[in-house]
Amino acid sequence: MPKKSSGASSNGLETLFEDGLKDIYYAEKKILKTLPRMAKASQSAEVSAAFEKHRVETEGQVQRLEQIFEQMGKAARGKTCPAIDGILEEGAEILEEYKGAPALDAGLVGAAQAVEHYEIARYGTLIAWAEQLGMTDALHLLRETLQEEAATDKALSALGESDANERALQAA
Ligand code: FE
Ligand code: FE
Ligand code: FE
Repeated sequence: MPKKSSGASSNGLETLFEDGLKDIYYAEKKILKTLPRMAKASQSAEVSAAFEKHRVETEGQVQRLEQIFEQMGKAARGKTCPAIDGILEEGAEILEEYKGAPALDAGLVGAAQAVEHYEIARYGTLIAWAEQLGMTDALHLLRETLQEEAATDKALSALGESDANERALQAA
């Protein structure tokens, strides 16, 4: 049996939604800072271009989140996301441990896909909650972003399969 709620607006779905927004807002801003480093480190022009393309998209994603906060009448504020901190930390390890190695790009592509999958999980949930809350405008914005994350994940898979994994294998 659920405990008696202390009120519809406190710690209900809307609060959960707002907390989720803060989590992904923190994550997106951190990803925005990391993508240029990954673009710079990657050995192939294609992998580098994919990171740069997604950096530009990520700027737009941050703006979409700010629009949603504004629609809710809330200040755009992030809340530390330990998951993205950990995922990016693993990416930084790859960067350091595979510097100059043939497997670097394969490792970076894999690290970036872990980021995309976290984002896909979070946006998927936020979309479901926005739907439930009847937040139509937010719903559209979140769907646009989810579509970009999914397309990025696909593009990274293709890059790994067509190029980076092959180069990594050659030196195995
Ligand atoms: Fe993103
Ligand atoms: Fe999180
Ligand atoms: Fe992304």
